[in-house]
Amino acid sequence: MDVYGLIGNPVGHSLSPPMHEAGYEALGIDAKYVTFEPAADEGAVAVEAADRLGVAGLNVTIPFKQDVLDAVSLDPLAERIGAVNTIDFDGGTPTGYNTDAVGAVRALEHHGIELSGTAVVVGAGGAGRAVAFGLADEGMTVRIANRTEWKARDLAAEVPDASGHGLDGLDELLADADVLVNCTSVGMDEDETPVPAGGLHGGLAVLDAVYSPLETRLLRDAAAVGATTVDGAWMLLYQGVEAFERWTGENAPIDPMNDALRAGL
Ligand code: NAP
Repeated sequence: MDVYGLIGNPVGHSLSPPMHEAGYEALGIDAKYVTFEPAADEGAVAVEAADRLGVAGLNVTIPFKQDVLDAVSLDPLAERIGAVNTIDFDGGTPTGYNTDAVGAVRALEHHGIELSGTAVVVGAGGAGRAVAFGLADEGMTVRIANRTEWKARDLAAEVPDASGHGLDGLDELLADADVLVNCTSVGMDEDETPVPAGGLHGGLAVLDAVYSPLETRLLRDAAAVGATTVDGAWMLLYQGVEAFERWTGENAPIDPMNDALRAGL
């Protein structure tokens, strides 16, 4: 039996175990997915221990996504993003990937959204970094807007064909944009939005990385003007799907994994 898992602190709320185990069950894979909660300064030690114990793959969440960078050999995209959320122990050296970027891309593609033209990414933290690189690598021009403007400008200097802004000019940034992704925590368990409704329009596809609640105020506002909306559970699903496929070498069974994830939300 293969053992996969998640390290984070805390990890009690995680939906990854039922999502991945639904995938193993659907494909008849003999595997288990467990959560581990190392002390906050022991992320790298936990990776080494998991390697020695024969764990096949690990997901990594807050607060360890940067701490494990030195404990793995880095995939180029994870190196550019500067954060790891998936480790594959197969083949000697543990390799660190970032599947949040691909998770956002595949979530949008799943909904038939063409990734060309201009994207506005709101937020320049961990999710914002991943999504900005992911959409830029698809060929989109990326406008990054963040409450702390210098962080958006710094990130934009690293991402190809990107620009950095504060939140004040969002209406203008959105006017001719094709895709909007909220990568701030605004809207998480609260009826708030980081994007004034007046800037939204029917030509946008809007992905909210926030998945609790599933229907955020941003997505409600976007639907009201006829925009295409994609909730954060799709991004969560596809970051897991991407990890599943790297680890198992199989195409992930999307529907059972999605059902298991949504059953827990
Ligand atoms: P993070 O690194 O802590 O970044 C937080 C971001 O939110 C920063 O850009 C911060 O701006 C901004 N922010 C926080 N409070 C704000 C406010 N009141 N007004 C405006 N901006 C505010 O967090 P993260 O890891 O990027 O996660 C961000 C969100 O994405 C969380 O809700 C997380 O659950 C979600 N997420 C979802 C997925 C998924 O698969 N669906 C994956 C990853 C993350 P400043 O720089 O100005 O502080």
